[in-house]
Amino acid sequence: MLTTNEPAPDDMPLCCSTYDVAVVGGGIVGLASARELILRHPTLSFILLEKEKDLAIHQSGHNSGVIHSGIYYTPGSLKARLCGKGATMAYEYLDKKGLPYKRCGKLIVAVEREEIPRLKALYERGQKNNVRDLTMIDAKGIREREPYCRGLMALDSPYTGIVDWRLVSLAYGKDFQEAGGTVVTEYEASDMAMVKESPAGITDGMKYPIAIRDSKGTEVRCRYVLTCGGLYSDRLAQISGCSPDPRIIPFRGDYLVLKPEKHYLVRGNIYPVPDPRFPFLGVHFTPRMDGSVWLGPNAVLAFKREGYKLYDFDARDFGDALSFRGPAGVRAQALDRDGNLVDDFVFDVGVGDVGSRVLHVRNAPSPAATSSLAIAEMVADEVERRFSL
Ligand SMILES: Cc1cc2nc3c(=O)[nH]c(=O)nc-3n(C[C@H](O)[C@H](O)[C@H](O)COP(=O)(O)OP(=O)(O)OC[C@H]3O[C@@H](n4cnc5c(N)ncnc54)[C@H](O)[C@@H]3O)c2cc1C
Repeated sequence: MLTTNEPAPDDMPLCCSTYDVAVVGGGIVGLASARELILRHPTLSFILLEKEKDLAIHQSGHNSGVIHSGIYYTPGSLKARLCGKGATMAYEYLDKKGLPYKRCGKLIVAVEREEIPRLKALYERGQKNNVRDLTMIDAKGIREREPYCRGLMALDSPYTGIVDWRLVSLAYGKDFQEAGGTVVTEYEASDMAMVKESPAGITDGMKYPIAIRDSKGTEVRCRYVLTCGGLYSDRLAQISGCSPDPRIIPFRGDYLVLKPEKHYLVRGNIYPVPDPRFPFLGVHFTPRMDGSVWLGPNAVLAFKREGYKLYDFDARDFGDALSFRGPAGVRAQALDRDGNLVDDFVFDVGVGDVGSRVLHVRNAPSPAATSSLAIAEMVADEVERRFSL
């Protein structure tokens, strides 16, 4: 399916289309970046290529839906800066567009004494990261915020919210199209090469020396390429001659869904104190925009299962409250050659003629949805710098 702001004539195959910049990957990072680029460069032509029938159906459509406030990340790190800035930009964008969200807040709850020093360290981290309105609350404060949650101490982050990140992704796509960008779905970029000839009927074809091809051989010609391939970012990088490292390892996580009659148990986001042995934030309760409440992801459920007593449910009530028709998400986690987690962004340009015109976002680590508008600014800066746009 081809969708454009100006529908292509039926007799005009995609191979005759030429663009200044092609963005590969219609997840939230690709869409936000394409939007930012076209808003900065309205006279250039842009195309966004997505392999699926619909946009943002992978990580960007299967996540916890949290607008993170930036508590966890190492102060001063890129991730911390992007998350804090991204959350502010996200709220401004949602307000401007009238998109629904809820600033329902979040508690990070310590239930064991040994968790309290880690919780306090997290509080200091959050303060250094300038997280708004962050406070420490005691057991009574926890009950007031979440009547069915028990704990010794908690971090209270009222700035944390929830949103449907897929809707936000689609809104970025709409902005991109309204600014003149072209979106093509069901186009899986499988090859990139320098061309030697202009396409038939195109007089200035050599101005667009890169041919992107899909598995059916359909070509899109362009001057520069930006890839934002999420779980496939390493493979897309390889296409243009880049190193396969860092490689992407998919982490699958299923969510359980609270039965509707038990929704009253959870008001806002409830997280455990993260265990430093794991790279993720821990199994959490997340209210969704549709009113449902998710518990997960279970990539760390084994760890968390030991912590049922974190919350004031007896195991049987707790089990009764859950439906096992849970949705799932798959997270892209980059690993270097030695198997270490790569926890910040990696930009990469390929080698040779093609590679020098292709920029890859190799690793957009969680919470890239929250950070998406801030990431897009950084990506657009990098595109401008590398390609002198
Ligand atoms: C379980 C889970 C929970 C999460 N919770 C949160 C949260 O609460 N808050 C938050 O901010 N973040 C959260 N995240 C992280 C966030 O969802 C991701 O960081 C973000 O969606 C990544 O976006 P992306 O565009 O990089 O990747 P994706 O959304 O995966 O998009 C990449 C796109 O590239 C396309 N593509 C790949 N290869 C090709 C090709 N060859 N040709 C054309 N198209 C191609 C794919 O089809 C896909 O649409 C969570 C992630 C997971 C998995």
